[in-house]
Amino acid sequence: MPDSSAFPAAHHRAPAASSATSVVPEALAPAVDLSTHDFLAGAISSFSGRIALVSSFGAEAAVLLHLAAKIDTAIPIIFLDTGKLFGETLRYRDTLIRHLGLRDVRSIRPDERRIVAEDPQGMLWRSDPDRCCALRKVEPLVRALDGFAAWINGRKRSHGGLRAALPLVERVEGRVKINPLANWTAADVAAYFAAHDLPPHPLEEDGYRSIGCLPCTYRTAPGEEARAGRWRGRDKTECGIHLTVLPARGED
Ligand code: SF4
Repeated sequence: MPDSSAFPAAHHRAPAASSATSVVPEALAPAVDLSTHDFLAGAISSFSGRIALVSSFGAEAAVLLHLAAKIDTAIPIIFLDTGKLFGETLRYRDTLIRHLGLRDVRSIRPDERRIVAEDPQGMLWRSDPDRCCALRKVEPLVRALDGFAAWINGRKRSHGGLRAALPLVERVEGRVKINPLANWTAADVAAYFAAHDLPPHPLEEDGYRSIGCLPCTYRTAPGEEARAGRWRGRDKTECGIHLTVLPARGED
C-alpha cells in the first residue's frame, strides 16, 4: 500500500510519465525527468543518510542511476553480485560507475560458507531456484540493507505480472521502499536513454531486455513482456527480494 506519511505532500503526485500514452516524444523527456527527479530528491532528502539504492545494473538501470547521480553521486548503491551474473553486467557496472561518477557502489556477494554448504556445485539454480535466489540475492540484500530506513529500486508497472499494480511508495515491516519509476513505460526509458546519451547494456542489442543471472536469463521475442525471458519455462517470475518481508534495522 502506498504510504502517505513517507514524504512531504508535494512529492505524492505521480511523476509525469504516468500518462497512458505509449510513446513519449524525446522533446518531452526533460519534463519527465523533472517530475521524477523531484520525487526522488524528496525521498533522498527525507531519509538523508539512511537511504540506499538497489540496482541490478541491468538493461534499464542507467535511468535510475543517472537520476540519482544528479542528486547525490555518493548515495549508497547496492549491487547484488550473485556469482552467476553475465560478465557483461559486471563490466557494465564499471562503465556506469565511471560514466556517472558514482562514488559508493557496494558489490555484495553471497555468504561463501552458505554457498559451500548448500550449493557446492553451483547448480542449485536448476534444482531449487527459489533457494538459490534466497542464498544469492535475498540474504545478501538483508545484510546490505542493515542500517538503512529506506531503499530505492527501479521496478515499473510496465514490467507486468506482479508489478502491474506497483505503488510509488511502500512500507514493508518498518522499512520504506521507493519506486520512483513505477509509472514509466518502455518508451519513457528509451527516451531518457536517448536524451541523456546513456550507454546501453551490452547484451541489449543481442535481444536481452531484462537481465539477471546467466543461467536464468533468456532473450525475449518481439511482443513478449520484458521479463518473459527470466526463469523461462518455470512458474517463477521474481527472485524474491521484492516478495520477502525484509527485516528492518534491529529486527534481523
Ligand atoms: Fe540462482 Fe538463477 Fe536466482 Fe541467480 S536468478 S540467484 S542463478 S536461481
